Amino acid sequence: MKRTILNAGMILCGEQLTPLENGSLIIEDGIIREILPRKAREALSLEEVEEISLPHMTLMPGMIECHNHLCIDAALPEHLELLAWSNECQLTLLALKGLKEDLMSGVTTARCMGDKFYIDVTLKKLIEDKKVDGPRLLAAGIGMKGSHGAGHIGMPHCGAGEIRHTCRENLKKGADLLKLFITPGVPEPASTFVPSFLSLEEISTAVSEGARLGIPTAAHCIGGQGLKDCIDGGVDVIEHMYMAAEQDVERLAASRCVVDLTSGIFLDPSREEFLSPANALKVRLNRSRVRENVARIIKARLPFVLGTDAYHGFLYREVGYAVELGADPVTAIQGVTSRAARVCRLEDRIGKLENGMEADIIAVEGNPLEDVSRLSQVGLVMKGGVVYRQP
Ligand SMILES: [Zn+2]
Repeated sequence: MKRTILNAGMILCGEQLTPLENGSLIIEDGIIREILPRKAREALSLEEVEEISLPHMTLMPGMIECHNHLCIDAALPEHLELLAWSNECQLTLLALKGLKEDLMSGVTTARCMGDKFYIDVTLKKLIEDKKVDGPRLLAAGIGMKGSHGAGHIGMPHCGAGEIRHTCRENLKKGADLLKLFITPGVPEPASTFVPSFLSLEEISTAVSEGARLGIPTAAHCIGGQGLKDCIDGGVDVIEHMYMAAEQDVERLAASRCVVDLTSGIFLDPSREEFLSPANALKVRLNRSRVRENVARIIKARLPFVLGTDAYHGFLYREVGYAVELGADPVTAIQGVTSRAARVCRLEDRIGKLENGMEADIIAVEGNPLEDVSRLSQVGLVMKGGVVYRQP
């Protein structure tokens, strides 16, 4: 049996991230066996133990990135346009780079929201077989948009029949979720109207195809009629919601949907230089109203999770934006830990430090509950009890 003990200045325990000062965490064969005060650990006599001491660090669950794409690297100039002419080999190399950046930044699970050539499904299996290093993945396979729809990564579909066909193809290949693209990515700056490119019938077809196999459906949707159709059609997770008006927030509050916020696309000025000039202008013109709309979701206390939309290694910034827009630090961090695990349907395995959970653990300098920007200073990264980054 392989046994590791992590001793840390603080351990954030359970779903509520309850701090335990000067604690020890015992891992056996990749599973958390016990979390106990340092003094209690010293009283134990354990043989054949690897012990790691992190007196100035806080242990917390590995982060779960809820909106990733492996075929996109948002830190490359004009990355969306790049996607159109890159081949499978080029995109695979990009994916391997992104996976490494994610893992080293403390992301131990990532939800891939549509990729090309089933790269996400293939890499997910290779990671499970320990042939490639990366976060554990949930793959959506081929994303589906309307034939007249917007977006660079979804494939065009017309009618429920075509949607059903791709859903089944995705499910056969081993997708963990289905992904629909309902609305444009970026709102028109001068308008509050949000077009919708898939019908209620097309949306509910995907939801029912997934549900029959116990697979959830997520939808790229920034608001408007598309949101109403997603809720009526039974979609599980709404991605982005940049245009959340009062009415949209009321609809969401009355539904069982979780919202996946990816605010950095608009709020993080460092991302602008990687967009085409036209897109960068749209982002700038929309920045203040997206800030207002996302804050509306957070202030209404809707359940949210967080993702970067392919800005690999920067998930900590999304936690920072959630706090900036009104979330308390525990709620914001739960958006990349326990609440995210529930959205991934992995809450029995990951997302909190507790006896019996898999040892997906990161250590950060200082106390992230006092300052969430500490999440940018990740020392140790452990996934399934294996250390991928040394403190
Ligand atoms: Zn996306």
